[in-house]
Amino acid sequence: MFRPTSPVSLGALTALAALLIAAQPASAAEEKVLNLYSARHYQTDEALYANFTKQTGIRINRIEGKEEELLERIRNEGANSPADVLLTVDASRLAKAHELGLFVPVKSKLLESRIPAHLRADDWFSFSTRARVIVYNKASVKAEDVQNYDDLADAKLKGKVCTRSGSHPYNLSLMASIISHQGDAKAESWAKGVVANFARAPKGGDTDQIKAVAAGECGIAISNSYYVARLMRSDKEADKKVMAQVGIVWPNQKTTGTHINVSGGGMLKHAPHKEAAVKFLEYLASDDAQRYFADGNNEWPVVPSVKVDNPALAALGTFKADTLPVGTLQMYSTKAQVIFDKAGYR
Ligand code: FE
Repeated sequence: MFRPTSPVSLGALTALAALLIAAQPASAAEEKVLNLYSARHYQTDEALYANFTKQTGIRINRIEGKEEELLERIRNEGANSPADVLLTVDASRLAKAHELGLFVPVKSKLLESRIPAHLRADDWFSFSTRARVIVYNKASVKAEDVQNYDDLADAKLKGKVCTRSGSHPYNLSLMASIISHQGDAKAESWAKGVVANFARAPKGGDTDQIKAVAAGECGIAISNSYYVARLMRSDKEADKKVMAQVGIVWPNQKTTGTHINVSGGGMLKHAPHKEAAVKFLEYLASDDAQRYFADGNNEWPVVPSVKVDNPALAALGTFKADTLPVGTLQMYSTKAQVIFDKAGYR
């Protein structure tokens, strides 16, 4: 599962870390710095962090990296790690960080009261949710034929389905939820059915699948909701044309609800600035920060009372989300990969 990393990026990270450590003499005011390792890859997060500094005076040193790379790095740094908080995407990775003992429990009445129980553990918290939706070509596929994830495996959709790789966490977490709800045997036949329906071998990211559906190369794709919303909000003519060709379905509305995943984070065991870390986590659950997730990256806030002002999310409307505790997805992620491999879902 560990992605190969280029020597350049690792070298750059190491140099940055050295700078970070050098920039903090022992007398550094504990409260005024936060070292953040982040695997969120969204440019709009800049404003999210700037707002925290504005509110608290705490400067954020941010190191961005790929998810597995950051987990490995924190492990290797051990007790010398300068990292206070890890932010990442995908519930399985949060659960993985927990299993590796990288996080430390945070007792916060605020976090407990604002974040629903199925979206947190005692040492990590989700801060935004994204849904895995079905996208279909309105000219070649009927909406009623693609109302459920199960439909993607139906033989009548032969030659129509496009997705990104089966080893990508977004698909593994969907598969983990299917295993959890329906058991191994059903999950296995689902994977085989989807592979039999492929229009082409998996390639590209979610946005590439949506574009291929619009172009007619595929009839159906699965995508994270924020990629859909991003295209909906785009001013580019080409993107507008793409969205005019496709319809969006919230899968499994009559059964388990649409699969959701999260982005989230936790305080690291060896965090040098623990007070600042708790403040930062609490900030991420604040109304302001929750709105940044919604406006910036088109994700949904985890705090139910937060009202968002995002035309794309408003246009997508409300849906029934799967309430499976997201932390349990990790329990099935290895099995999900085994089943995909067996089915030839590359
Ligand atoms: Fe993504």
